[in-house]
Order: sequence, then structure tokens, then C-alpha cells
Amino acid sequence: MANTARKSLDDLAWEPGFAALGKDYGSPQQPTPIEAPRLLAFNKNAAALLGLDPAEAQKPEFVALFSGNAVPAGAHPFSQLYAGHQFGAWAGQLGDGRAISLGQLRNAHGEPWDVQLKGAGATPYSRFADGRAVLRSTVREYLASIAMVGLGIPTTRALCITGSDAPVYRETVETAAILTRLAPSYVRFGNFEMFFYNRRFELLGPLADHVIDTHFPQVHAHAPGAQRYRAWIVEVIRLTAELIADWQAVGFCHGVMNTDNMSILGLTLDYGPYGFLDHYDPEWICNHTDSAGRYAYNQQPDVALWNLGRLVQAILPLLSDEPEAAVSIGQDLLAAYREQFDAAYLGKMGAKLGLLHPEPKDHKLIDSLLGHMARDASDFTRCFRALASVSAENNHSDGVFLDEFKDREAVSVWLDQWRQRLHSEAEDAANDTTRRSAMNAVNPKYVLRNYLAQAAIEQAQAGDNSEIERLGRILSAPYDEQPEFERYARLPPASAALISVSCSS
Ligand code: AMP
Ligand code: MG
Repeated sequence: MANTARKSLDDLAWEPGFAALGKDYGSPQQPTPIEAPRLLAFNKNAAALLGLDPAEAQKPEFVALFSGNAVPAGAHPFSQLYAGHQFGAWAGQLGDGRAISLGQLRNAHGEPWDVQLKGAGATPYSRFADGRAVLRSTVREYLASIAMVGLGIPTTRALCITGSDAPVYRETVETAAILTRLAPSYVRFGNFEMFFYNRRFELLGPLADHVIDTHFPQVHAHAPGAQRYRAWIVEVIRLTAELIADWQAVGFCHGVMNTDNMSILGLTLDYGPYGFLDHYDPEWICNHTDSAGRYAYNQQPDVALWNLGRLVQAILPLLSDEPEAAVSIGQDLLAAYREQFDAAYLGKMGAKLGLLHPEPKDHKLIDSLLGHMARDASDFTRCFRALASVSAENNHSDGVFLDEFKDREAVSVWLDQWRQRLHSEAEDAANDTTRRSAMNAVNPKYVLRNYLAQAAIEQAQAGDNSEIERLGRILSAPYDEQPEFERYARLPPASAALISVSCSS
């Protein structure tokens, strides 16, 4: 529990948070009430972040608040203005088209949480869309953020889903739902791009200062000015590199890495057509809409760098008064990304193999295993999990791992190389018992496979929310064995290949 205080809804002290920046940065916007909302899912771990008593979720006032039907006294409902590059092209102004922040709450530790309703009705940035979200997409975001927390990967959080019978028109008629999410901040790379491309450079500094003052205490200590902005960007680049390494290490594919979906805090943000790898295919495209594969799994590290380039370009006026100097400072800052990503990736992948001190030469061992997995279409999650049960001393228990492959002989050769490497470590990486528990702490047994999410969605659409709850519980402890839920760790059924996810949400 992040917090022991038990607040009631009435105790929540709303602060303006981002809205304090004023109308150049977004629009005050009331949520649109929705007919007969009910609570479909509630996440007590997220409530604990606010110090909110989970018993409050039983009250009608809770549903009214988190469906947008009753805006609390002192709240500052606000939608942000931002822009972005979508699929590599400048998309111009976007903004929160269906997200409305009620305001900021601080918990007993002083941590700020921006409480946002997603799907709460149209805003000035909705363009031609309806400002709503469908039950399907809210369940996907709710479960994915719980799964990420369980995996230990930075993400926006999900407090609850409220739903209604109100129709929402997508490819078919679906029903409306509202996701309440929590994050210290939803500021995106695109918030900065907005003011660079419309040449409102004077708005960049206050936005950066707000982000630094509220969310980067270590940077805040620097004297105001270009040095402080540079120190901040160093941090943003580091957080982004670590986030993408985290994604790669668990086989997570975001699906829509547009700059308007890139968090300035390095959080996983805006879950749409995301996916976790089933069988390993480095070129896997999880988003049906992404026909060119710009956001394929193996493109994510490069795309993040490209996106950081757009961010750095947008804040050039903050890096130096002299444009040419700013460009060269920006390039130097970006140069750190590759090394940071590589180090983070090597550390995580090495740990997945049970290495205590991964070294650059271990890339060969890692890549060779991934090569076998790709050739044999082996399941990414199951392979790494199974490796823990192989002994470093003998080949008696190789079977559990080899069963995940077609070419057992080739993989046996790899296992011998792996054993040799374990024995070459200075400390005792070969000790089976300690290595097994270390490996099981980084190789999840349970990930949010698409077909599992789909089952929870279909049951919820039929009026039964119990699978959302169950799956949420399993995914909260993805590294635990949970033998009673073994079936959730099985290979996906053949029918899973037919599920396609797109940007429609
Ligand atoms: P996304 O692909 O979900 O990141 O959304 C891209 C942009 O479209 C953002 O500005 C969203 O706020 C907006 N948007 C997506 N769906 C809707 C909707 N149903 N109503 C209004 N705006 C939307
Ligand atoms: Mg988005």
C-alpha cells in the first residue's frame, strides 16, 4: 500500500495542477453527463495511491464522480492542448479530444496525481469525433496498465471503469465507458511541439518550468535557464531509453508511438492497439492499421529516438538563444540515447538469461537465442520463463525449455554455450536455486495476451465483469507461479491469430 490514510470522496482536496498554466495550454471543459452509469471495474491499488478508502467505491457518489456526472467542488476540469507527429507526418493540432482532467490530488507523501476521465465527452479538441470511449478500449487500457504495474514498468494507472448502455458508433454499435486514469502528469512530447510549430516560443518555457518544478525535483535544483533545460532533457532521454528497454524485455509493443502518445515522464501512455508478443517475431506489428510496420516491435527503440528528436527540436529555443548553438546542443543531448538504451537493454536481457554481470559480448548469446525463437516461432514469454528451470550443472532438466522449440538439437547446443557462460561469471551465477529465483523475478509467467483481454472484454460486453477482476489480479503478480491460474500461461489458442486490433477505440 502506498498510503495508509483512508480518505473519503469528500476529503479529496482538488488542486488545479496542469490547469494552472491557463488557457494557452488547454481549455476548461466540463464532462458531459452520461445516462445511468455503473461501476464496472475498480482497482484498489490505484485508490491507495490517492489514499482513498476503497469502501468509497460502493457509493453512488463514486460512480457519479468518475463518470463525469458530478464534478466535485474545487475541481478544475481541463483538457490539454497538444500537437504531434502521427506515423511520421506532422499532424498539427490535436489535444485531449476525449480526456478531461478533474484536477490534481496529492497523497500523504506529497505525490501529485492528475485524475483524468477518458471518454467523458467532447472537448474543443474532439474535431469530428464524439469524445467517447467504448467499453472494449477502456477494458484494454485498464488491464494493460495493471499488467505494466505488475511487471514493474512505468505507466499511467487505472482507477476504475464506469459504463453505460449509451450507444457509441464505431465499426459497429458499442456501449460507452469511461476510464478514470491517474498519472503524475499527462504532458506529452506533443505539448511542446504545439508551441514550436505555431511559433509561440514564449509558451515553451512556462510549460517546461511547470514539468520540471512538479516532476523533476533533481533538475529543479539547477539555476534557472538553459542549463536547467538541458539537465531536464538529459533526464527525459534517460527515462525514455529505460522505458523502451523495459518494453523490449517483456515483448510489449505499443502500437501507436506517435509523439502525442509519448510521455514526458517516460510512462507508458495511451494504450490503444498494443500487444504482448506471443510467438517471437521481431517484425511483429500489433496494430492492424499500421500496414507499413512503422511501429513494429523491433522498430520501437529507433522510433523513440526519432520522437525524442522531435521533442528536442521543439524545445530548441530553450537550449540556447543562438539557433545554431541550440541545434548542436540538441544533437549532443540526443547522442546519449543509443548508449543508454543499449546498456538498459543488455542489462535486462542479460538478467533474463540469469547473468549477474551482462557484458557487451553477451549480445551474441542473446541474439542467438532470439534467432532460434524466431525460426521456431517459439513463445517469447514461455521460453524465457522455462529457461529458469534448466540446470547449470547438467542437461537433465533441459526438456522443459526444449519443448518450446522445434529444432531441439540446435537449441541444446545453445544451452551448452549458456551453461559455459554462467560458469564464467566471477560469482556463482551457476547456483541453480538462487539463479532460478532471480530469473523468475524478471521473466514473467503471465502477460496480457490479446486473447485473454478479448475474453474479458466479451464477458464484460455480456454483462459479466468478473474476468476483468480475475485477470487484473493475476497480472498484478506476473512473476508468481500462481499454479491455480496455470491455464492463463498456456500458448494462445489458434483462434487468437484471428483477433485484430486497430486504432478504433
Ligand atoms: P489516439 O490515437 O487515441 O492517441 O488519439 C489521437 C487523437 O485523437 C487525440 O487527440 C485524441 O484525443 C483524439 N481522439 C481519439 N478518439 C477520439 C474520440 N472518440 N473523440 C474525440 N477525440 C478522439
Ligand atoms: Mg493519444
